[in-house]
Amino acid sequence: MKRTYAALSAAGTGRRNLLLLLLLLGMALLAYLLYGTARLQAMAQIREQADANLNRYILSLQHQLDRHKDLPRLLANQQQLIALLQDPDNPHKTDQANRYLAWVNDTMGATDSYLIATNGITLAASNWDQPRPFTGNDYSFRPYFQQAMEGGPGRYFALGNTSRVRGYFFSHPVMQGEEIIGVTVVKVDLEDVEEDWSDPLQDILVMDEDGVIFISTRAHWRFRTLGQLPGYEHILASRQYGNHELRQLQALAAGRPPALAGLLSEADVARIRASQRYGSAPLLPLDIVRREATAQGDLLLTLIDQPPSSDGLDPQPTGHYLLVSRLLPEAGMRVAVLASLRPLETSVFRTLAVGLTFYLVVAALALFLVARHRLKKRYEAELQRAHEALELRVEQRTRELTEANRRLQQEMEQHHQTQNQLIQTAKLAVLGQLSAGINHELSQPLTAIRHYADNGRKLLERGKAGSVATNLEEIAGLAGRMATILQPLREFARQNGDLGQSVNLQHLRQGVMVIMGSQLEQQGARIDWPDDLGGVWVRGDIGRLEQVLVNLISNALQAMAGQAEPRIEVGLCTTDEEVQLTLRDHGPGLAEHALEHIFEPFYTTKSAGLGLGLSISHRIVQSLDGRLEARNHPGGGALFTLTLKRTRAHEQEPR
Ligand code: ADP
Repeated sequence: MKRTYAALSAAGTGRRNLLLLLLLLGMALLAYLLYGTARLQAMAQIREQADANLNRYILSLQHQLDRHKDLPRLLANQQQLIALLQDPDNPHKTDQANRYLAWVNDTMGATDSYLIATNGITLAASNWDQPRPFTGNDYSFRPYFQQAMEGGPGRYFALGNTSRVRGYFFSHPVMQGEEIIGVTVVKVDLEDVEEDWSDPLQDILVMDEDGVIFISTRAHWRFRTLGQLPGYEHILASRQYGNHELRQLQALAAGRPPALAGLLSEADVARIRASQRYGSAPLLPLDIVRREATAQGDLLLTLIDQPPSSDGLDPQPTGHYLLVSRLLPEAGMRVAVLASLRPLETSVFRTLAVGLTFYLVVAALALFLVARHRLKKRYEAELQRAHEALELRVEQRTRELTEANRRLQQEMEQHHQTQNQLIQTAKLAVLGQLSAGINHELSQPLTAIRHYADNGRKLLERGKAGSVATNLEEIAGLAGRMATILQPLREFARQNGDLGQSVNLQHLRQGVMVIMGSQLEQQGARIDWPDDLGGVWVRGDIGRLEQVLVNLISNALQAMAGQAEPRIEVGLCTTDEEVQLTLRDHGPGLAEHALEHIFEPFYTTKSAGLGLGLSISHRIVQSLDGRLEARNHPGGGALFTLTLKRTRAHEQEPR
């Protein structure tokens, strides 16, 4: 049994472990799927946002550029400006040109407008009256000047040489016939976007054709290059950008296309420096640790971004970004949005947290339901087993009880039979005594009858008829007496009494004395009967009541055997309902043990005794609805009390 239980519990544990494993596997799979889906979705959202930002910015940029791009051409046809170019030293014409440029500049909302002679010297400028006017400056090194001098319109982005303000320059040649006599230039400030930009997670970068960032919503990225060659991380990680390392980096990057490398060759740097495009900026690359192309052709970047304000001792903030960019060939620039992937991580984490929590709740609920179902089934099975066991026990117990009942009835039946047989046996024993008594009683009248008969015959022979009649009367009287003596024999022949009969105590006394007469005489014993017995009737039948009294008297005589004057006193006490006969002897009385067991069958203290007399007497009295009790008389000797139901005189005594 124990082993079976152990095996069952082991199987249960195995199942539980398997279930747990399945749950964990399910969780892992779900986490994997959720991670993938959430990442894709979040990435798509970020890209969408980045695209929208890119479009918005490009639109506003183009709008700004478009507004001014034709202005230099317009200026190139202005008479005041042409006049100044033809007569550059004329102060009046210079003044007129300055004022005109200032007016146009103001009207069009440009940053600066100016006129350059073919030698590169600025002749007139809208800011002629400002603290640092362009007039007199040599811009022959500027590419936009060179482009215009080649005959076409020029466009260029650069840090203002004088103003140190970044701007976009449009230029156009001023023609006189086929000859170029000067160049008009309009500068547009593009810095507004950096100040107005409010998206903290997405940054705008604008790069020139060399890959140099010249507009950035993160100020410290300005004039740095985007991109990095693999293998340079350790140098960059050292974060020392001394001239030596810089030269090294630039030497390593030499010969590679700038868009790929993100670093500029020495020649490029020299070229850019010569153009004074970005002043003396070192043109370092951003610290890109990792770059990866997406399926959409965008770039995923991991870069270390250390703002100039930090001391370099802080842990380096590494960020993950999506770079979405578009080339604007006409404007000669690439506009990019660098979107932080932080929302992606947050979104993935949130999706994972919600999904897994939901999964755990559902799993817990499912487990709970399964466990409850299993418990319920087990409980029902146990209940069923208990019910069956109970039914079996009840059935078994009922069978046992039925069997016990049957045996008891059988025993009672046997007991009853045995009792009847015992009563019968006792009767026979009394019959022996009775016959001895009858024999004693009848022998005398028989002898007398024979004597009277003999005398009668002799008197007849003598003819004395009168005397014969006297003799015959005597014979009849003797016969009557003999009939009375024989009466008890008839009673003894009956087995059961009739409770409806009444017995006169005087008749009872006579019967008893007939039976016991000779024995009393032999022992020289005396019985004192009460006088008023004739008026008292009791329920019962005379034969059995005689049997009881004969028993009691026999026992008393035996107890007093050897005494000089054995004496028995019979007392009478009556109520309306009952009659009590007491029988006291003067023997040794009843021992304590005898008092407890005296009415039990076969209890005897005599060597030749049967131990049946009192038990049968007790039973007889009980069957007559009476009681038989034994105790010792305070004055010595045993005292038996026989209580019987009292009846009335009119209830006929059977004869
Ligand atoms: P038995 O006479 O065959 O022994 P009984 O049932 O008549 O059987 O009596 C049982 C016992 O009760 C006797 O053996 C005797 O010890 C005790 N007993 C009965 N009557 C008396 C009495 N009058 N005095 C003393 N003992 C008695």
